[in-house]
Amino acid sequence: MKFVQYNIDPAIKESLEALGFRKPTDIQYKAIPSILKGEDVLAIAQTGTGKTAAFAIPIIDRLLRKKQPHVLRCLVMVPTRELAVQIATVFRDIAGHTHLKVLGLFGGVEQNPQAGALRNGIDILVATPGRLFDLVHQGHLVLDRVEVLVLDEADHMLDLGFLTDINDLVRKLPTRRQTLFFSATINDRIKELAYRIVKKPIRIQLSPKDPVSKNVDHAFARIGMDDKRFFLEKLLKERADAKVLVFVRTRLRADRVSAAMLRVGIPSLVMHSGKDQADRLQVLESFRQGDSRLLITTDVNARGIDIPDVDYVVNYDLPDHPESYVHRVGRTGRGLKRGEAISFVSPEEEPLLDAIEAYTGTEISERNIDAESYRLTIAETEDTPHDNWRKLLEEADAPSKKRRKKS
Ligand code: AMP
Repeated sequence: MKFVQYNIDPAIKESLEALGFRKPTDIQYKAIPSILKGEDVLAIAQTGTGKTAAFAIPIIDRLLRKKQPHVLRCLVMVPTRELAVQIATVFRDIAGHTHLKVLGLFGGVEQNPQAGALRNGIDILVATPGRLFDLVHQGHLVLDRVEVLVLDEADHMLDLGFLTDINDLVRKLPTRRQTLFFSATINDRIKELAYRIVKKPIRIQLSPKDPVSKNVDHAFARIGMDDKRFFLEKLLKERADAKVLVFVRTRLRADRVSAAMLRVGIPSLVMHSGKDQADRLQVLESFRQGDSRLLITTDVNARGIDIPDVDYVVNYDLPDHPESYVHRVGRTGRGLKRGEAISFVSPEEEPLLDAIEAYTGTEISERNIDAESYRLTIAETEDTPHDNWRKLLEEADAPSKKRRKKS
């Protein structure tokens, strides 16, 4: 069924058409009818599945059915500032032809403009629990007219220690409300929180066996820790037009890999928690706009962030937590698009690979690099040859390089 056939407000259909959303994704197909009926929903959904529109479309429809002056009727709680900005944008896009006002609210920036926007009246608020809690306590915000509560990335909110804030805020909401609970993973702590705040929910779980999106072809290659930059250089040169997102383990490594790529003529954007909020948003925007095709980041960026048209995800380092693997590779192949992901696995990272395979319940396919191609990749790097060993290797390798050039 296409969106034009849905029983939703024509103003929403007009926006969906403009966004190029014609058919619902799996989660939208499953969640929208229940949410339209006013039911509570508990959804375990992978990243990049279209879950934001899965709740934004029916919520906007609900708010349009009963026209009211601007009062806060929908509250969406999210774990991070970036996600608050992104989800508020989706709401604004879909509600673009309506009178509804949307605000994204998060910490790390001045509070006064936010309080001012709240005073002018809004209908939909997308907020991180910390700043929301502060504004409620200072009397800038009343929650007693909220009809719909959404908890997005609930698992990440618990990881960030927001449980008390969430519980305190939920107590301030009307008990008669619709609650929509989204989490990428499920465990006992999530279940406990969910069952405390949803009522007789409709449960939706997408592909429980393999949480990696079906749209992503993902594989791994065995590469020594010190050789990874040469293989990244090769990959980026072979895919000169691709938009690539590279995940590394630490801030320091993010800066180092970026410097190594610059030495071989490949500029990049870098994002990690050491950068301030304004920088992080700007980096994301530059990458989104295509000012640079390469973003090197730590896991600060793995969850929930929607960057359209990422063609390739590189796990330069494997993540320590298997769930992060799913979030990382979920940055590509979003919506109805296809994507590719590759992980560089050094011998010391093999236990992490095993843990990821146990978590996803699948065996990740290996992209074999034969010894000759491995040596050539290192020999052909354009990196400045501080490394004497590399020069030696190049010399030792010269005959085989010549052979390759002839063929
Ligand atoms: P999300 O999981 O909400 O972050 O969405 C992932 C991506 O899918 C975003 O880039 C959306 O713009 C895109 N998307 C969501 N719904 C649809 C749809 N029905 N058709 C095409 N793309 C979609």
